[in-house]
Amino acid sequence: MQKITTVSEMQALAGSLRAQGKTIGLVPTMGALHDGHLSLIKLAAQKADVVVVSVFVNPAQFGPSEDFNKYPRDLERDAGLCEKTGAHILFAPTNEEMYPKSYSTYVTEERVAKPLEGASRPTHFRGVTTVIAKLFNVTRPTFAVFGQKDAQQAAVIMKMTADMNFQVGIVVAPTVREEGGLAMSSRNRYLTNTQRAESLAISGALAHAKGMVANGERRVDRLVAEVTHLLGEKRRIRIIYVSIVDSRTMEPAREVIPGESLMVIAVWVDEVRLIDNMIF
Ligand code: AMP
Repeated sequence: MQKITTVSEMQALAGSLRAQGKTIGLVPTMGALHDGHLSLIKLAAQKADVVVVSVFVNPAQFGPSEDFNKYPRDLERDAGLCEKTGAHILFAPTNEEMYPKSYSTYVTEERVAKPLEGASRPTHFRGVTTVIAKLFNVTRPTFAVFGQKDAQQAAVIMKMTADMNFQVGIVVAPTVREEGGLAMSSRNRYLTNTQRAESLAISGALAHAKGMVANGERRVDRLVAEVTHLLGEKRRIRIIYVSIVDSRTMEPAREVIPGESLMVIAVWVDEVRLIDNMIF
């Protein structure tokens, strides 16, 4: 596995791989890799000649009071995991490399990015779409893999890719969960044992709602009320949103349409912000 830290070197290598007719699969990450990330790398390795994993804690997608400074970073461990999992290139640029002092251009998607995470973290998706557009131009992927865990992010990136005519396929891989159901996340390491135990209510409530839908429930208000009630039983959990939306547009659903509707949840577990979702 090759480690690259500069944009110019990455672009030159990607250009020469593309000229040789190789397909490139990109897996963008912020590092602190867990099995969720590794599942994306494995999927990319099945489909592409060359797998590029980017590790970059993107300052542009963190709000001023968010956890950019304390976000976990361990590039050496990440590199070992990438290599073991089948990555060929690790692209780990510095902030200065991606956003030099003179930097002033941003890419914004203005519809899918508005509700939910967009309402609660107003500059978040602007940072995400900007860095992903840059990574597309730097690594020249044939396709890029994203996790269903961040369902709105995947929907925003699909929309941006279509709107900007990027010739990049977007692959969305299923959410990998810990035993007990908690969706894997780099932020789970902030949780104490008690907080972790209460966090199980999130996936539990989603599974419960999915069961209700399997039994014929289609009323959005009924499902949201049930999940709100289940989460409300936990002392440390405060709900940011519980909503049922169209999985492509993120617009509120009027009733559940199996295969199209998505239940999305964001909560605070004390000071740790967690999200999860389930396709019905
Ligand atoms: P992050 O490092 O948190 O920015 O995530 C990088 C990529 O990994 C994104 O496409 C995420 O959606 C994906 N991802 C994060 N957690 C999981 C998970 N538990 N299962 C599947 N994909 C995930």
